[in-house]
Amino acid sequence: MSAPKKLFIKTYGCQMNVYDSERMAEALEGYEQTQSPDDADMILLNTCHIREKAAEKVYSELGRYKVLKDAKPDLKIGVAGCVAQAEGQEIMRRQPLVDLVVGPQSYHRLPEMEARTHNGAKVVDTDFPEEDKFEHLKARPKAKRGPSAFLTVQEGCDKFCAFCVVPYTRGAEVSRPVDRILTEARDLVERGVREITLLGQNVNAYHGASSQGEQSLAQLIWALDKVDGLERIRFTTSHPNDMTDELIEAHGTCDKLMPYLHLPVQSGSDHILKRMNRSHTRDSYIRLIERIREARPDILLSGDFIVGFPEESDQDFADTMDLIREVNYGQAYSFKYSPRPGTPAAERGEVDAAVADARLQELQALIAHQQKTIQDSMVGREVDVLFEKPGRDAGQMMGKSGYLHAVHVADCTAQRGDIRKVLITESQRNSLAGRLV
Ligand code: SF4
Repeated sequence: MSAPKKLFIKTYGCQMNVYDSERMAEALEGYEQTQSPDDADMILLNTCHIREKAAEKVYSELGRYKVLKDAKPDLKIGVAGCVAQAEGQEIMRRQPLVDLVVGPQSYHRLPEMEARTHNGAKVVDTDFPEEDKFEHLKARPKAKRGPSAFLTVQEGCDKFCAFCVVPYTRGAEVSRPVDRILTEARDLVERGVREITLLGQNVNAYHGASSQGEQSLAQLIWALDKVDGLERIRFTTSHPNDMTDELIEAHGTCDKLMPYLHLPVQSGSDHILKRMNRSHTRDSYIRLIERIREARPDILLSGDFIVGFPEESDQDFADTMDLIREVNYGQAYSFKYSPRPGTPAAERGEVDAAVADARLQELQALIAHQQKTIQDSMVGREVDVLFEKPGRDAGQMMGKSGYLHAVHVADCTAQRGDIRKVLITESQRNSLAGRLV
């Protein structure tokens, strides 16, 4: 039997790409992963189109591999993900060292595409095929997994926010059938997983087929709640308009659903929300948060914010700051607006860069203050921690609370995968410390 070839995957962007990279690595038979491109037989860039100049960054990364390809002409280089979808054939034209380009909906065709490159073919597949790529990706080998895993249940988005490329690069919303998700979840649990984060670009719009008809995300969560050995369920990323009553109720009644919710709002100004085509208002978002907190008073909220969106005035920005004060976030991602080619907002004028920079700083300082205050309030509380890996110091273990805080325990007797009660004794810069109860 010949030695396995080496596969180097570089993953950009979101958790969904992390999951896709795992599945692609498993689908490419005859390869094992390496952490360095230098000894790879195949390099795969799994790209993301969300950040500024994403395509240019991919081209410059590809340029760095020329020296490797010159030294090893059999080296295969592939581009996957949203930049592959958006650029397609253009990647081959601009960077001839690339052998294959595969869009996010065609990953199940990757093994066949890779085989074709051995005959010297250059292969591009950015179709949106009818078949379910996850179903056709090879079943995972029964290798052990860490305690926490991602599981993609939904892809694509029908919302068309004015700044976002997802509806163009990932296509319309598609949900995986319930039974396939349950089968994959049980398999993950058998391999050591205790916590599953359900992923989707618009995950709470999930509507998967099942023998009892179409099921919502809340119904899927309740089905997962019955999986023995699965202790924690999370989901991300959600749109406020898809937070249904039953999903809110699940936050109050399903013990396995963790008290953490990432619910992007993007802006606190109705004028800007309208220009963003967000289809919710500041008030509807605030009312929604109130209902979620009624169901689960201790829930930790996380958000996404874009500052400097076209036409954002001082008053619009002040409205966003007010909303942040009102909601009180435990965590948030914030970005300065930058146009994405092909999106409606890209055609509009931009806010002065220095003004946008100053707003971003002000917003991030407020979020950091809220985050630290909430983190500090955990001191003295007992929380359940899922232990994931050894910490930096000898005898120390690191895990996550239900609120997604990193927790370090010194002289820890808990093992990887254990869920144990921890008394929080200290709030550090970005994590908590405590001792087993
Ligand atoms: S809901 Fe999210 S993924 Fe969909 S268009 Fe808006 S920002 Fe993009």
